[in-house]
Amino acid sequence: MLDCIIIGAGISGMVSARTMIEAGMKIAVIDNSWRSSASRVAAGLVNPITGKRFQVSWRYNDFLSFAKSTYSRYSKLDAEDAYLKPFPMLRLFADEQEAHTFRVKIPTLFPEQYIGEQFSSNSNVLHPSLRNEFGGYRTLETYTFDYNRILHVSASLLGETLIPFHVESGHISNHKGIWKIQTNKGELLSKRILFCDGWVASRNQWLADLKLQFDIVKGELCIIRSSELPETDIISRGFAIIPIGNKHFRCAATFQWNDYTMIPTSFGYERLNQRIRSLIQCDYEILEHSAGLRPTMLHHKPFIGEHPKHTCLYAIGGLGTKGALYAPFMAQELVNHIANGRTFDEEMDLALHCQHLEIT
Ligand SMILES: Cc1cc2nc3c(=O)[nH]c(=O)nc-3n(C[C@H](O)[C@H](O)[C@H](O)COP(=O)(O)OP(=O)(O)OC[C@H]3O[C@@H](n4cnc5c(N)ncnc54)[C@H](O)[C@@H]3O)c2cc1C
Repeated sequence: MLDCIIIGAGISGMVSARTMIEAGMKIAVIDNSWRSSASRVAAGLVNPITGKRFQVSWRYNDFLSFAKSTYSRYSKLDAEDAYLKPFPMLRLFADEQEAHTFRVKIPTLFPEQYIGEQFSSNSNVLHPSLRNEFGGYRTLETYTFDYNRILHVSASLLGETLIPFHVESGHISNHKGIWKIQTNKGELLSKRILFCDGWVASRNQWLADLKLQFDIVKGELCIIRSSELPETDIISRGFAIIPIGNKHFRCAATFQWNDYTMIPTSFGYERLNQRIRSLIQCDYEILEHSAGLRPTMLHHKPFIGEHPKHTCLYAIGGLGTKGALYAPFMAQELVNHIANGRTFDEEMDLALHCQHLEIT
């Protein structure tokens, strides 16, 4: 009998699996070979200030300190380079209006710890390949996260306890408090089930009666090669060009609503080119183009908790654009709940997400 079966081996499922194993739990993870995974395509940027209105990311410091210690422990255990690495970022203003908003906002809103050196338009501190018509600033406490490496290393650690299978809702049943999943490798029995199924949670029949309010957003991104661009900084303006070594850069991402496919489009390709050209003025070549769906919620907060009707059926989701930042904190929340009966963080508790419903 397993302590938990996790459905989904994206960042939330993998970090949950590792946290449970560290807590001595016996687990299995089922994943349909990353068929719908956002983690497989994510750009891997972790950044405290986002959007045109310079929003400070919700509880950034809490989540970041947890993420730093978790990922650094994993990289040591795995004998790998750091998965989460500090990386300097230049935020370039889009126009005079944005530069003005920033200057007005800084003294009132920003924790100083996130704002580094500010520079004016056409400042010669920047590389000539960057377009700097309106000035900008250096964001501090920014990181890159290697989603693909941690997923692959974790998958090989899990070995046969990672089962490649697509779970349909009818494969899952509960008899006298024991959860059963029928897989191609036979029947799995467990005390608990945890859904970490990313954006697919919005269609998950086991969660349907919770009426969780998703706002799934498609994103396209590409990898470019450019011999002229500097590799010292991430360059950003609501769209980022991230150095990934060897003169390659990940450029991310577009935002598209109402397209629920993971297929890269010609519209997305054109949009990516526009965004790249708005940031740089040098030659580049697009090498790869991909797309994914962000598991975003309408109110932009992730959820964690136990289904109010199905005992021991848990879900972690809604990680939106910040899976790398949120996953370690959420996994630990769940293990604390299972091991010590601790209540879930109020702002993320699934029960609160669906308080408006009467579930009988
Ligand atoms: C274009 C783009 C750029 C992004 N950039 C960043 C970024 O810079 N930084 C950042 O932190 N985040 C970024 N994100 C967001 C990040 O990808 C997500 O927050 C994170 O990956 C969500 O992880 P997850 O584990 O919840 O879901 P997923 O990664 O989607 O994992 C869910 C897994 O469950 C599997 N699954 C689903 N249903 C079933 C089933 N029925 N049976 C079996 N398996 C199933 C899926 O195939 C998948 O492998 C980006 C996302 C996109 C699309």
